[in-house]
Amino acid sequence: MPDRIIGYICIRCGRNRPLNVVSPCACGDERQGWRVIRCDCGRKLEAPLGGDFQCEHCGREYNAFGQRLAPREVWGEETGETLADILGPAGRDG
Ligand SMILES: [Zn+2]
Ligand SMILES: [Zn+2]
Repeated sequence: MPDRIIGYICIRCGRNRPLNVVSPCACGDERQGWRVIRCDCGRKLEAPLGGDFQCEHCGREYNAFGQRLAPREVWGEETGETLADILGPAGRDG
């Protein structure tokens, strides 16, 4: 699947960190940080850790890995998918 993650933001100092830089941030924080995701509408979105979020501009929803979520109204109906199917193995519950 296409990877929408285009970078990271340091949790501690807020610096933008490019994807291809694996060393710790200049502030010393070694965490990967918030994900910067390019929405399908072209906006850059900052994804909080471990949660879904929505583009303010177009209303599309993504999970923290940058994967598009189907509109909630159609979950389990038109697509026949469950939430677990949409989230994949990472969305394990139990
Ligand atoms: Zn930092
Ligand atoms: Zn958007």
